[in-house]
Amino acid sequence: MEHVFPTYSRFPFDLVDGHDVYLTDNNGKTYLDFTSGIGVCSFGYSNEIIQQSVEQQIKKVWHISNLYESELQDKVADQLCNDDQLAFFCNSGTEANEAAFKLARKSSGKSTVIAFNNGFHGRTYGSMSLTGNPDIKVGFAPLVPDIVFADYNDEAAIDLITPDIAAVILEVIQGEGGVNDGNKAWLQNIQKACNDNGVILIIDEVQTGIGRTGTKFAFEQFGLDPDIITSAKALGNGTPIGAMIGKKKFAEFFGPGTHGTTFGGNKISLAAATGVLQQLTPSFLADVQNKSKVVWNYLNNEIKTLDNVSDTTGLGLMIGIHIDNKYPVNDIISGLQSEGLLTLSAKYNTLRLLPPLVMSEDKLIEGLGKIKAVLQKTAETV
Ligand SMILES: *Cc1c(COP(=O)(O)O)cnc(C)c1O
Repeated sequence: MEHVFPTYSRFPFDLVDGHDVYLTDNNGKTYLDFTSGIGVCSFGYSNEIIQQSVEQQIKKVWHISNLYESELQDKVADQLCNDDQLAFFCNSGTEANEAAFKLARKSSGKSTVIAFNNGFHGRTYGSMSLTGNPDIKVGFAPLVPDIVFADYNDEAAIDLITPDIAAVILEVIQGEGGVNDGNKAWLQNIQKACNDNGVILIIDEVQTGIGRTGTKFAFEQFGLDPDIITSAKALGNGTPIGAMIGKKKFAEFFGPGTHGTTFGGNKISLAAATGVLQQLTPSFLADVQNKSKVVWNYLNNEIKTLDNVSDTTGLGLMIGIHIDNKYPVNDIISGLQSEGLLTLSAKYNTLRLLPPLVMSEDKLIEGLGKIKAVLQKTAETV
């Protein structure tokens, strides 16, 4: 990769083909996939409904500007929103958060946003500035001003929420930051403080949303009612798409000319998103929840009990296995690759699992069995 910026440290193979929940590399080796990209391909690599939807659209028209009406945007917005919400379509998670940040400042007339340590919201200036990981910001100052960081799950954050604050942004489970579980009572206190002080609550569901935790959005399981929700990753099952979903009361602040994008809401990504959302039915979500129960039984009984594992966190099929620092997670990931399993990491030496939601219970347990074996072997060799 001589002429590509070295912004990523890459594993030394290319995944060139995919089928169902398996990927094949350029050496012909096949892997069971516990990554879905990074929480993107939740319907795997050969979902017929999504494939057909995209194929049909490719034969019609790929791109039309946002200067014209779009039945497809209307359709996906209907699938995403409730009666009191509107959607803005963009191309990624960072852009969805950027839109949310801009809308929050404009609609409130205030500037300060509270964000959380170990939160991740993206790489553009606004969303990077909202990200609670100093490593990501090294060398890029000056950042966007008026962002205050608080500790996640810390009661002290509640006191920072005053009528002077424009918005609070958070993930209900911090993904990149280590698969850190949000405390339900704390999240509800944040919601209450936002309501009491007229502060906008933005929930970043870029990683947790679209069925990943067993509900359409994870916040539903915490009894929250955000003003703005951001979505991306799994929304297009691999086609680039993001969406900012906001309450209707914000419409007047995002009128013609206030915000926009050339590719946002493009027909190919939307065709994929309709295929995703039409399959995200109550029975599909119930199936994810049922599989998750079996998975969490295994995690609690077989993985959390291992000597080199300190904790297992997450919800549904978003899983963090917290490994003792003595055993670098990237070595574990390489070991699992040799065994034919693809996995991810997150901050603090966390092994992160985001398998396709369509994976069968048997295959989920098969993959977890490989993880158990590799973790056990690693503990013996050091
Ligand atoms: C991945 C991610 C983003 C950034 O999305 P991109 O599509 O990479 O811009 C933002 N927020 C969360 C929670 C994410 O996991």
